[in-house]
Amino acid sequence: MNNCTILHVEDNPQNMRLVHKMLAASGYKLLEAPDGITGLEMTCQCVPDLILMDINLPDIDGLEVTRRIKATPELRHIPVVALTANAMHGDRERFLNAGCDGYISKPVTRSELLNTIALILERHQVGV
Ligand code: MN
Repeated sequence: MNNCTILHVEDNPQNMRLVHKMLAASGYKLLEAPDGITGLEMTCQCVPDLILMDINLPDIDGLEVTRRIKATPELRHIPVVALTANAMHGDRERFLNAGCDGYISKPVTRSELLNTIALILERHQVGV
């Protein structure tokens, strides 16, 4: 399962590097997109096994990217994990309604990130 491809959509270079470091020794192949439209394009082109989705993005937000992915039959099987700094009451429902398969609140720890990825890949039986 560790040869899975993960797409990280994130506009903040610091957060991008942090997740990159956390996943460095994991064996996952990491793809990175700096905004929503690029994330959507890379999802279509590369069909990753899992997507880590920042919610606040400069163009279309992560929930809209998720909605578009989940509205596309060839892509809707891809699990999307929302990464968000502003986890407030009601956010969980908002993310799940948009089609997210899970979410992690920032600041994310390495173990939380790796555990969540492993759990969701397992649940989706990717690479099994
Ligand atoms: Mn952001």
